[in-house]
Formats: sequence, structure tokens, C-alpha cells
Amino acid sequence: MTPTSANTPEAPPVLVGTPQAADLRNTPGTQQRVGMALTQADLALHRPNEAGLIPILQYHVFVTDPALEDQYTHVIDDFRAQLAWLYEHDFYVVPLWDVFLNQIYAPPGKHPVVLTFDDSTAGQFRLLPGQDGNMIPDPNSAIGVLEEVFAAHPDFGRGGHFAVLPDNCFHFPDEPDQEPYCDQKLRWLAEHGYEVGIHTLTHANLTDVMDERFQREIAEAMRWVRERIPNGSAEDILTMPLGGYPDPEVHPAQWKMLREGFTYKGEHYRLLGSLMVGSEPTYPPGSIKWDPILVPRIQMIDGEVATWWSVFEEQPEILYASDGNPNTITVPTVLPTWIEGTFDRAKAEADGKTVVEYTAPGGD
Ligand SMILES: [Zn+2]
Repeated sequence: MTPTSANTPEAPPVLVGTPQAADLRNTPGTQQRVGMALTQADLALHRPNEAGLIPILQYHVFVTDPALEDQYTHVIDDFRAQLAWLYEHDFYVVPLWDVFLNQIYAPPGKHPVVLTFDDSTAGQFRLLPGQDGNMIPDPNSAIGVLEEVFAAHPDFGRGGHFAVLPDNCFHFPDEPDQEPYCDQKLRWLAEHGYEVGIHTLTHANLTDVMDERFQREIAEAMRWVRERIPNGSAEDILTMPLGGYPDPEVHPAQWKMLREGFTYKGEHYRLLGSLMVGSEPTYPPGSIKWDPILVPRIQMIDGEVATWWSVFEEQPEILYASDGNPNTITVPTVLPTWIEGTFDRAKAEADGKTVVEYTAPGGD
């Protein structure tokens, strides 16, 4: 959650969604104790590699009936199985904003993974009446599953980024009875360590729209989240609808707006970054390949899951493996071929990190 300017009297006025405000976000990465430096034995055991890849997983609609599965429709039991697979393979769930802020916390040796949910569908977060009459998350919605898994495995991390649509706020596609709970769900997400991001105002394809429309789609979506979550959330992270970025030949000014912000109706808006639709794990923020406006994800459809799961099983050394300390960036002197030459030491140091290089046992 983003503290207000009241916490930082010396700071300039807080603008909507500025990185300055975001830097002060109360994230697990900034809350965690800073660990001791790793010993040689720790390095040999945990093999940290903070130049490695981070999977950002992308989900849409959830159903219980396997007959309804398609590219954008996931069976909730498959989601359970995928989380179990990640847990068994030493992954650790981190919030998306920790990645954007280069403030990633995971225990030594664990691989950060991010969970993202597009379009705010009902199956992601459904509220049902509990025994005492209070509304509680449906155990067969994504939030119900996440709460169950995080409670059972406190060593699995926590987090989830929800790219919400104002007009389809967790009641789409066919559950109008869920519509009244929109604001309650947004507050619940923010209070339980989840992020609320934006997906434009109308799920607009931004490939070729006028500047005014482009600004309105982003600015009004940010305002909408702000009005419902008083301390803000992750409304400065845009999940690009349909992966439709502005055509750079036709709309170069809109690329500048994505990177540097813009003023709309007298207020300044600036994104921390934006997410693409496909189709691979992302390089980490300390990489020469990191671009916060073009962050790739893995679509959690059967073929993609099978492909990437086998890559991660066969080549775990390409994955980001944490040193347990968000303030240091620990990398082997020799990186696997896939990511060789991508670590940006100068950027890590400019971000205030202490860089630790070590020779991995076995020399790989
Ligand atoms: Zn979408």
C-alpha cells in the first residue's frame, strides 16, 4: 500500500502513481529483516543467482467444470495443482510491485514467482455468505485457493496482482449477484497483501487511439482505484489489454507518456510500468533486458505450462534464485548461456544495491 505524503513531510507533493510514491510502498521486500551476508557454505548450498529469470504467470477466468476449459478459462483444480507444483519446486510468491521496485524478497535459494489475474472475473474473487452471515471468499475462487495455500504454507510467500476493470469488477461473465461487492473486494484485496492494478477504463485496445482517449483510459482507471482504496495500491501498473501497445510509428508521443507520464485534466499521472500478454519469463530489474514498460508474462494455458515447467525442471539454473537479502544482488561470476551477459552491475549499484559476485562450486 502506498503511504500518503503525511508520512513523508519533506517529500514533494505526491502525484498519482509516481515512482517516488511507489518507492515508499510498504512491501514485503522492504519489511523483511535484512539477512546476514551469505557464507561460502551458504552460497554452495543455495546457489543464489539474482540475474536469473522470474516467471510472471497470467490467469483470466476460473471455473470448476473441466469441460469449460479454454485458452482464457482455467479449471480451479488445475490452479491448485500449479501452485502445488511451484511450492514443490522451490518457488516463492512475491508481489509484482517488488519486482518493479527492485525490492525482491525471497528466502535464500528460492525462486520468485508472480501471480497476475486479468479482467477481474467472478471466478477470481467470489464472495459467498458464511455461517455467521458475513461474506467470505468462495473456496473455489482463485482468492479462496490462494488463502488456503498461503495459510497451509507460510514459507511460500504471498501476493497476487489483479488487473481490474471498473465495469466488470469481479462479476463477469455471468454473475450479476456479485456486482454489489466490488468496493468491498477491492478493499479486502488491499488489506490482505494483494495488489489492485489497472487494465484501462474500458479494456481498450490502445494500438491506435487518439491521445485524449489514451490518456483517459489510463488516468481514469488510476483514479477509479484511488477512490476506492484510500492509500492506493498498484494502480500505477498497467496490464495492457490484448497486449495492444501504441503503434510506435503513428503514436510516438504515447510511448513517451508510457515512460514519462502525462498530465490529464490538471493532474499528473505516471506509470511504474506495464505488462504484456506473452510469452516468457521476465529478466529481473537488474538486467540489461529489463524494460518496465514491456514486461513479459507466461499465459497459463496447457501448452505453455507444459513447456515452461519442463524448462524450469531441466534448467533451474536459469531462474532467479534469491540470496535472502533485497539489498544485495548476488550473482555467480559465470552465468548460464541463456542469461549470459545480461546482468547490469552499474544499474544494480545505481539502484543502491551491493553486488556480490561469487564462483559457483563446479564452475558453472
Ligand atoms: Zn484483458
